[in-house]
Amino acid sequence: MGPLGRLSCSPREPAPERGEPAPERDEPEFRGPLKEFLWLVEVRKTDSKHDKDSGPRRLSTDDFGGGGATRILHNYLVWRVVVVLSEHLSPPFREALHELAREMEGSDKPQELARVCLGQANRHFGMALGALFVHEHFSAASKAKVQQLVEDIKYILGRRLEELDWMDAETKAAARAKLQYMMVMVGYPDFLLKPEAVDKEYEFEVHEKTYFKNILNSIRFSIQLSVKKIRQEVDKSTWLLPPQALNAYYLPNKNQMVFPAGILQPTLYDPDFPQSLNYGGIGTIIGHELTHGYDDWGGQYDRSGNLLHWWTEASYSRFLRKAECIVHLYDNFTVYNQRVNGKHTLGENIADMGGLKLAYYAYQKWVREHGPEHPLHRLKYTHNQLFFIAFAQNWCIKRRSQSIYLQVLTDKHAPEHYRVLGSVSQFEEFGRAFHCPKDSPMNPAHKCSVW
Ligand SMILES: [Zn+2]
Repeated sequence: MGPLGRLSCSPREPAPERGEPAPERDEPEFRGPLKEFLWLVEVRKTDSKHDKDSGPRRLSTDDFGGGGATRILHNYLVWRVVVVLSEHLSPPFREALHELAREMEGSDKPQELARVCLGQANRHFGMALGALFVHEHFSAASKAKVQQLVEDIKYILGRRLEELDWMDAETKAAARAKLQYMMVMVGYPDFLLKPEAVDKEYEFEVHEKTYFKNILNSIRFSIQLSVKKIRQEVDKSTWLLPPQALNAYYLPNKNQMVFPAGILQPTLYDPDFPQSLNYGGIGTIIGHELTHGYDDWGGQYDRSGNLLHWWTEASYSRFLRKAECIVHLYDNFTVYNQRVNGKHTLGENIADMGGLKLAYYAYQKWVREHGPEHPLHRLKYTHNQLFFIAFAQNWCIKRRSQSIYLQVLTDKHAPEHYRVLGSVSQFEEFGRAFHCPKDSPMNPAHKCSVW
């Protein structure tokens, strides 16, 4: 029986073993490896020299509304452990998980073992794998070029802030300050170039023959690292993604954008691509992350990442009215008879629309400064059209109906084809580039616009 077989977590279990203190009344009792894990993260209220309610605390049954709560709490915690660890167990466990994935996401076949192993190496040794990745796939020259691209797009936002007619001068000054303070990290953290520093990330035991134990050691180590950070000063240079991630993020509480080397690759970016493709590809992603600093959520944090309202009431209520137009637009998109949730996806939609515009105008500035690009051989599209095609290509994906259903219910991003249609249809330059008749679906007379 695997380690999970020894867990005893049901409230109907007999009294604690001899020598163990009795659990507090109505608090769950755990034993074995689970107990060891849960109590690792325990932080006593009295440990804090701050207000005793300000720090993390152990969940109590009060959080679940009393009566019958112990059972709910037990079941929930055990389920979280099962869901995280089952994928590392023998085939019957993995087959059960696959059944679940088939129902929820429509996935056809279980993943090949080689991919599973690569996925786990990526998850548990991300930075070590990333050191190998950047060595082969990301040059210092690429980093400098992308940094310049980010600066160009930030410059365009600065210009657009000046021109906005719905924001007053006081709010504009705060928005500009936020832009100036925004931190940008590109490619990979510098420590990746020093093998001994990479080793420090993985100071736990790993043996060839003890796969499951290796995973537990890795999880325990990362919990310990997290716990150590409690009440320490925030380290703003930490990367939440390894460099090979095909992703990017904006953190409102650090006012920071991060673009790992993995997303700075073809088809999104290549130093030798026409600039129309680079601006339509990675440029719109950079614009998207930048705009997150000014969406309905990120816009609530100030230039230092504090949850502090920097808007005047008049400007903020005009912002909300403009955002309402986008909520309504996406509320009217349906997929498999299911409505997209305009409110739930609002922040991402604001970021998509803003990012598209910022990248487009940054490309126009590039053309003004460097001259127009040569048409691509045997291709009928202009570079302005290619910019939009590259943007649409970013979101080219095929999903099964179950996966779309799950996405519409839970994901803060709208289904990909609406991310494209929603954004381009509200941007007059798209209608101009593709000669869409006025008031046609892709060029409506009334358009939503925030940034
Ligand atoms: Zn986003």
